[in-house]
Amino acid sequence: MVALVITDLHANLVALKSVLSACAGSFEEVWCLGDIVGYGPEPVETLAEVRRLRPVSLAGNHDQGLIGREPLSMFSAGARDALQRHRPLVSEDDVAWLAGLSSSLVHQSVTLVHGSLSDPVWGYIFSPLEAEDTLERARTSLVFTGHTHVPVIWRQQPGGVTEERIEYGRPISLRDGMFVINPGSVGQPRNGNPSAHYALFDTQNRSITFDRVKYPVRRTMRKMRSMGFPESSVSRYAIGR
Ligand code: ZN
Repeated sequence: MVALVITDLHANLVALKSVLSACAGSFEEVWCLGDIVGYGPEPVETLAEVRRLRPVSLAGNHDQGLIGREPLSMFSAGARDALQRHRPLVSEDDVAWLAGLSSSLVHQSVTLVHGSLSDPVWGYIFSPLEAEDTLERARTSLVFTGHTHVPVIWRQQPGGVTEERIEYGRPISLRDGMFVINPGSVGQPRNGNPSAHYALFDTQNRSITFDRVKYPVRRTMRKMRSMGFPESSVSRYAIGR
């Protein structure tokens, strides 16, 4: 079975649709690691598209912020501004759906978590030590995570955890060792490449293929400007930061 692994969609419907058409017909399940809303212009439409896919889904910090489970004071000014715009748009039904999601779970012998295993909602894994801490807490050899908006493969080696090089579009075997995998962000990548990032995980071969697709990012930016988002929230999309 092949799972499409996506995270940090951030209400960017244009980016999500581009991912779905890029890999149409090549996956059976969708694993969504959270942050469906926040930052972007189309929370309602993005939630509808995600729910239509019947994903295995987590709630990220922005999803929790939207439904009032995390205080808005925890968020940066730009993130807070977007959540305040989203709140009146989203239906009670969507709020109830988001409220039913947890921030970590084990599915098909893979741990799925939005942040880290020491802090599933807010914990960032940016360093080998942070990856090692999560792997020490994991009950599976694979941990898929989001939250940083940066695609990465952390691999446990006898001497510690190292970062593996990502080759886009090529399957990478995850059979030997323990791994923390972040497919990168669909809706607001921060690795300097504005494309929408995702991964396809083959549960039988235990292999993962990272990929990214160019999408009309200017359309997302235009939409945000027309809705009155501050320019500081809009301009980052063009450079993937
Ligand atoms: Zn996020």
